[in-house]
Amino acid sequence: MDATESSGKSRVIGGGRGRFAPSITGSAHPGTLLAALLCWLDARSSGRDVVLRLEDLDHTRLRPGQHEGMLEALGWLGLDWDATTWQSGLGPQHEAALDSLQARGLLYPCQCSRKERRAQGRRAPDGSFAYANTCQNRPMATSNWRDCPESLRVRLPDTHLVLEDASGLDLSQRPAAEMGDPIVRRADGVIAYHLVVVVDDAASQVSHVVRGRDLASSTATQYQLQSLLGYAHPEYRHHFLLLGSRKQKLAKLHGSMPFEELRTRHSGPGFCGLLARLAGLRASDRPCTPGELLSDFGWEKVRRDDLLFVDG
Ligand SMILES: [Zn+2]
Repeated sequence: MDATESSGKSRVIGGGRGRFAPSITGSAHPGTLLAALLCWLDARSSGRDVVLRLEDLDHTRLRPGQHEGMLEALGWLGLDWDATTWQSGLGPQHEAALDSLQARGLLYPCQCSRKERRAQGRRAPDGSFAYANTCQNRPMATSNWRDCPESLRVRLPDTHLVLEDASGLDLSQRPAAEMGDPIVRRADGVIAYHLVVVVDDAASQVSHVVRGRDLASSTATQYQLQSLLGYAHPEYRHHFLLLGSRKQKLAKLHGSMPFEELRTRHSGPGFCGLLARLAGLRASDRPCTPGELLSDFGWEKVRRDDLLFVDG
């Protein structure tokens, strides 16, 4: 990577690459923008590239115009990217990963419903219901996974992984038992999140993943998938979350403060200043650009505990 001028600060020649990978099945919300800002600051302050990857694979939830909305929101905040990629552009790599897993006999079909998982009553670390690997010994009925009408799971090695992220967060887990073998391709043909994210990070040579703590419990599963596929493991860091009024994660699915509403209340620099104060990077809400936060950015300043987001 060459040294480049960006946001008024000369970037040192560094190594590696970060990424921000929002799902575009909903509007950007304050939590999306916080995650994007922290990811961008982490990469830019370390001289790393940072790419934007638009997660558009779940066609069942996509609506027209959503990616334009996400690009507009990120641009409004003042963020720029070394490259923009589309998850759907990596279809051949996703399929090759499934081919590789099938060739080693690691895929198995499953049509257990959420109701069946709930009946077993075992909670996973992420709060969902763990899958008890009920179908693990069912053989593939077809020689090609593409012809299987059921969901497909991958058999993970049943080992306890000792893992810590860059912030010291303990990610240790026995994913096969605590979460259950993950679905890697859904019955409707959509290649599933855990596999896609691991393939995409490897394809883009992502070395540093910065993301919200709500995703921390899935890291061990993704780490094992990386091992199965022979990929390098990125360094992970999980940050605090902005919570909605009922202490739930500020998710787009809850409709909390979408970008369309945020922009009627704030300017981009105004909101950047607000996020900087909430994150602990600045003492006041003074409007600023992301570039102006670079010179004294450090993770030791960023708050660790989640925060109730109240605006207006
Ligand atoms: Zn099953």
